[in-house]
Amino acid sequence: MRLIFTYMNKFEALGLGEAIIKAVNDMGFETPSEVQEKAIPILLEQDTDIVALAQTGTGKTAAFGFPLIEKIDSKSRITQGLILSPTRELCLQITNELKNYSKFIPGLHTVAIYGGASITEQAKQIKRGAQIIVATPGRMQDMINRKMVDITNIGYCVLDEADEMLNMGFYEDINAILSHTPEDKNTWLFSATMPKEVATIAKRFMQKPVEITVGHKNTGSKNVSHEYYVVNSRDRYAALKRLADANPDIFSVVFCRTKRDTQKVAENLIGDGYNAAALHGDLSQNQRDLVMKSFRNRQIQMLVATDVAARGIDVDDVTHVINYQLPDEIETYTHRSGRTGRAGKSGVSMVIVSKSEIRKIKSVERIIKKSFEKKEIPSGEEICQVQLFHLASDIGKAEINHEIDSYLPSINEVLEDFSKEELIKKFFSVEFSRFHNYYKNARDLNAAAGDSGRESSNDGSTRYFINVGEKDGFDWMTLKDFLKEVLELGSDVLSRVDVKESFSFFNTASEYQERVLSIFEDFRMEGRKVNVEISKDSGRNRGRRRGRDNGGSFKGKRRSEGFKPKGKKRFDKKEDRNQGGNRGRDRRKRSDRR
Ligand code: ADP
Ligand code: MG
Repeated sequence: MRLIFTYMNKFEALGLGEAIIKAVNDMGFETPSEVQEKAIPILLEQDTDIVALAQTGTGKTAAFGFPLIEKIDSKSRITQGLILSPTRELCLQITNELKNYSKFIPGLHTVAIYGGASITEQAKQIKRGAQIIVATPGRMQDMINRKMVDITNIGYCVLDEADEMLNMGFYEDINAILSHTPEDKNTWLFSATMPKEVATIAKRFMQKPVEITVGHKNTGSKNVSHEYYVVNSRDRYAALKRLADANPDIFSVVFCRTKRDTQKVAENLIGDGYNAAALHGDLSQNQRDLVMKSFRNRQIQMLVATDVAARGIDVDDVTHVINYQLPDEIETYTHRSGRTGRAGKSGVSMVIVSKSEIRKIKSVERIIKKSFEKKEIPSGEEICQVQLFHLASDIGKAEINHEIDSYLPSINEVLEDFSKEELIKKFFSVEFSRFHNYYKNARDLNAAAGDSGRESSNDGSTRYFINVGEKDGFDWMTLKDFLKEVLELGSDVLSRVDVKESFSFFNTASEYQERVLSIFEDFRMEGRKVNVEISKDSGRNRGRRRGRDNGGSFKGKRRSEGFKPKGKKRFDKKEDRNQGGNRGRDRRKRSDRR
């Protein structure tokens, strides 16, 4: 030995053995995360139950995975460790991680057990010897009942994402599964939050657990509102772009079901000038790190991701989660929507669905115990209005660059004949005409009315624009109340109240048009003039015009790039391709989901 003090890496210092250290080095982990630092030494040294609370993405898998692997006897083929996790995705993710951690330990086998795949195949794998089983509660129960697994000798039971499991109604299953395990095993409970139900489990099934908490406890997703949009499948992509364009400051995670769709949607967005990128399991760790870095820096506004790849994302300030497609397992929705509304901020989770998927919204509502609001994909007109105001407010906020001062006299000369009003109009025409032209004939993307939602058809109604919005403290409910009161109208007459940042839209039955306009003719709120105009866009009935929706882009860098003159043609092709690409998706193998 050449050195007196041999270099000890931080993972060795936790007491982990050589094989795991080698794997850790291979995975490129340099420093243990906080939950790892706290949990690993305890679990290695003591035979104890533990309750560990740490947010998503804090490295909980290794926090229980490393010590579990250390404690398993790889020479024995008996099942010694059981990990219960809420979803198939997680189950597979944990299994993969454990396999990675234990790759230098010959003879150690980890097997995943989850619904929706062949039970006999899973039973076969277990028969070959599985010291560690990672299971979803439902399938585990099933296999116990069929005597396909034997967990009567396990020494360790991990309840991962315990809060989610209980949310999903697995209490009875967990109860039943644990009744087949030995009294003297150790139970390790990992959870992001500690609702009463989790505390009950801890009390019921655990003996004097050590408790560790990392960071502040997750407040859950009560700050998230949920919306859905019904479109024809072939319009999914166009709808996605409209949603982005209607929210100029969007900072979002867009979820797709498969790696392929993720890649394709991201490529299309990039091609159309959006600041977008893909995140999925086919990228190298290095590529993923780069993508995440750009996302954190806001160079990427739309991160298109698979569920598994996005699982570790803990970026605050995400304004929107967009479900480009609903997940296969509706439970996964909770995790998706949890990417926004973090750190006390509010967020929106949007779902684009086709008519045949509307019933799934109901199932999601049951799981999240919240209801969705059915919304309409904004029309081209609405988007133009949003973007125009955004541009105006950006200009208002812009810091003046004095470099141009010296050119001012000659510029003034060119423009001296125009009034302020004319100048503003000209300026906006230069900046905005192309965007406007692009969207002005955009068709209605909402799937035909009358078959899906609670909204009645809007025939005979008038749509208005009003210059108050979120920044005045309104949301759609409070604005509706406000309008009801001011206009002395009933709820049934007011509809489609749609609140944007600095302005909003609403509809009334057309017969009230005069009343609305006269009441708001000279209306002040806290001294400010409230302006109401009839929106040129009549709302739901707007889409009879047949235009091409080749989507627009008008944000950040894109503005200077302008619209590609050939964009239209190129895009048409792309939409066609998308349609073709949808075929056979369901047959695609599961490995495409990460
Ligand atoms: P959680 O279960 O807390 O949500 P995970 O265990 O899934 O978090 O870990 C999130 C991500 O962080 C995974 O991609 C994992 O490989 C990575 N990771 C875990 N521990 C470390 C570490 N010490 N250093 C670097 N990356 C880590
Ligand atoms: Mg986890």
